[in-house]
Amino acid sequence: DFSSSAYTRAAHDKLHGGLLVEGFDEESCRSQYQSATYRRNTGRRPSGHLVSKLRRHEALQRRCGPGTAAYRDALEQLKSGRNAAAAPPPPECMYLVSISYRGLGNRLLAAASPFLYPAAPSSSTPAPRRIRCSASPLRQNAGERRAQAGRGERFAGGSRGHAGAGVRGHPPRLQVYNQTDHDKLFFCDEDQRLLSSFQWLVLRTDGYIVPGLFLLETFREELDALFPERDAVFHHLGRYLFHPANHVWGLVTRYYRAHLAWAQRRVGIQVRVFPWEPDSPELLGRITRCTQEEGLLPRVVDTEEPAAVTADPAGRGVKSSAVLITSLKAWYYEQVKGMYWENAAAGGEVVVVGQPSHEEYQRYGMRSHEYKAWAEIFLLSLTDMLVTAGKSTFGYVAHGLAGMRPWVLLLNQANGTAGHGRPCSRGVSMEPCFHTAPPYDCKRRRDSGEIVPRVRHCEDVPTGLKLF
Ligand code: GDP
Repeated sequence: DFSSSAYTRAAHDKLHGGLLVEGFDEESCRSQYQSATYRRNTGRRPSGHLVSKLRRHEALQRRCGPGTAAYRDALEQLKSGRNAAAAPPPPECMYLVSISYRGLGNRLLAAASPFLYPAAPSSSTPAPRRIRCSASPLRQNAGERRAQAGRGERFAGGSRGHAGAGVRGHPPRLQVYNQTDHDKLFFCDEDQRLLSSFQWLVLRTDGYIVPGLFLLETFREELDALFPERDAVFHHLGRYLFHPANHVWGLVTRYYRAHLAWAQRRVGIQVRVFPWEPDSPELLGRITRCTQEEGLLPRVVDTEEPAAVTADPAGRGVKSSAVLITSLKAWYYEQVKGMYWENAAAGGEVVVVGQPSHEEYQRYGMRSHEYKAWAEIFLLSLTDMLVTAGKSTFGYVAHGLAGMRPWVLLLNQANGTAGHGRPCSRGVSMEPCFHTAPPYDCKRRRDSGEIVPRVRHCEDVPTGLKLF
């Protein structure tokens, strides 16, 4: 259970091993220093090199970020549309504009990715401003980003696509990376060398491009020093960057206290369904088989079996599990809850099933909807064991923040029946998958998923790449 020693240990690590610094106003962003106490898993420790690099980046942002003279100058240069001199000395302040779209999970992954890009050895590019505390973690800068990007593209001339395209003659100040096939060259060393001459870089992506950065020899040495444990990159970046604002933290903590805190075991199940999909008994079968066969939840037994170990009405002395289901629909929750009510659980275990919301439809940009989505991602990350839907960025963020390898529900089972095949498999790492990864290594034209150490194809998206 949540013993006092576990509590103290977690409380002492409220800075996540040095990822965060003391000194921020606790009241204005309660989650920042409190979230560690809600997790039993204290998470991985960041390397000393990562911690010191973060501090240096924070200092750089104070010199270059919005509101500074350097930032105003750089914007003026961009607006003027003048190209840089033939061989300009690289300015201290270089800017990376991130444009992401679609759901919250996608946008969170996209926001974490460019944060790492400037961590490259020779670059002094300030990473995106740290998203300290926000309701929908990305809302606060979106307008500004779009405005910058709009201006940028207007002045970029022919710089879209291959990094080399704009480099004939004098380099323009801005380069745009789009998530297109052509821009897979972004993950080639030669193109990165060219990109380093641009003061502005626009990244338009809605996914986690970090595994692609590990394909670059230019970056690899530094990235390895920053992340000696390659499977914990998003785990560190996510805990550094994303902190629910007080309103969302209220959603998280109220649900947590009412429905999760008391249990000996907390199991999160992410049931990613789309609004148009009919309720699927087959998927339900996979969820129950996965949780019971993998030992996450007790099996249900015949109600005629001898009664549970204890006759204590409060259930003292028996094991207890709280199940958190997140889904756009209520049907799966109703079924799992009904199953543990209508049947006894092995060992007389108490199993309580809950679901914070069922929004039915995806509503991008609607504040109350996004608050709930963010709260639910965070709640999933506070559980002890996690079952996620393959391919879902919503689930990736949850297990990355938690620092846990999830059990991934397997999609498209060959025979489509609940009775055969494995219902889920253990994720190879806690890292998100880079869905639109380049298919080949730039130099050798060989499959990067097979030749780069600790980079492999994802279980859920075979053409994708993930760190492990
Ligand atoms: P992905 O599409 O699974 O990769 O995840 P995204 O987060 O990028 O997009 C799905 C969006 O649908 C979320 O951001 C939510 O707006 C909504 N959504 C999907 N599943 C859930 C859920 O379980 N709970 C809530 N509250 N919203 C969900």
